[in-house]
Amino acid sequence: MSTISELQELLSQPRQVFITTHHKPDADALGSSLGLAGYLRKKGHTVTVVTPSDYPDFLAWMPGNNEVVVYDSRQNDAQVQEIIGTAEVLFCLDFSCLNRINEMGEYIRHAPGTKVLIDHHQEPEQFADLDFSNSSAAATAELVFEVIRDLGDQDLIDAGIGECLYAGIMTDTGSFRHPSTSRNVHLIIAELLNAGINLSDVHRRIYDSHSEMRLRFLGFVLKDKLRVLREYNTAYIAITQQELKEYDSKTGDTEGLVNFALSIEGIVFAAVLIDRGQAVKISFRSVGDFSVSSFSRDHFQGGGHHNASGGISYTSLDSTVQRFLDLLPQYQSQLVTAPLAVAPPTV
Ligand code: 5GP
Ligand code: MN
Repeated sequence: MSTISELQELLSQPRQVFITTHHKPDADALGSSLGLAGYLRKKGHTVTVVTPSDYPDFLAWMPGNNEVVVYDSRQNDAQVQEIIGTAEVLFCLDFSCLNRINEMGEYIRHAPGTKVLIDHHQEPEQFADLDFSNSSAAATAELVFEVIRDLGDQDLIDAGIGECLYAGIMTDTGSFRHPSTSRNVHLIIAELLNAGINLSDVHRRIYDSHSEMRLRFLGFVLKDKLRVLREYNTAYIAITQQELKEYDSKTGDTEGLVNFALSIEGIVFAAVLIDRGQAVKISFRSVGDFSVSSFSRDHFQGGGHHNASGGISYTSLDSTVQRFLDLLPQYQSQLVTAPLAVAPPTV
């Protein structure tokens, strides 16, 4: 963990700043990037945000979205290499391994500028010069808030920057229900409310702005694709490329599916496996002690957090599902439903 004075020193004069985040950015990835970008621009820095891929339309409302450069290896590789190569400061937000951002990872590894990591994933790779990673934080946006506050600039967090950060914290805490939702998180939200954020607008923009097709796709998946394995307290969903096509599935349309699988009573482990063509992308979630970050690291080249992780497989969807099913017996003793705690009476 680096000290805030090292960052203060680095940012003590106007800099060429590059900010990036993980592949297929979610609300925490984009919100922390655009929140930080808004702040740094107010401080007089020149900032370019580059995402390694496109991201869902329901994030496009974030202030600064219009200036985002979306990396595409066939269209703007030279431009992005130039931005990375000339940046004096490179912020990497909401990911901990350079291999999560495809080609851009190697460009960043070899870039001459100072690399700053702000992240909350487990087991960060040691590639940054300054490291503000903390795996007990609920969201990268929480850490970005703290960095701005500790730099002495909380008063620069306006409603626009605040709504970007709120979106990240709201989604990564599952709307304030995951165990990561600490007192600190709620205190930060109180500060963001002071800055003028409209939290119900953010909620509507993210959760209530889906296409009709997306909802019909959800109906199809829940009715026909959900599998429940009671003996392992596990539920999973496997989706083919053809099914994605039939429902005209767009980036972001499959986000959150895994939570439906986990919402069944007694289920402690849920997986969604999606055939994306080049690879099968997998999302894992758990409740309680079973670590899906270890599970995905050990078997699916992935990682993430204790209760939320992802991984990848380069074999067919069917064989990936079979590999997943074959692993379950060895974890059976860990896949137990913990009783809900009862609060002790106060005396
Ligand atoms: P999601 O299922 O929402 O894509 O990802 C859940 C969590 O796991 C996120 O924090 C995400 O950053 C992380 N994650 C997803 N896919 C991968 C992966 O392939 N590798 C690693 N290391 N982490 C991942
Ligand atoms: Mn995050």
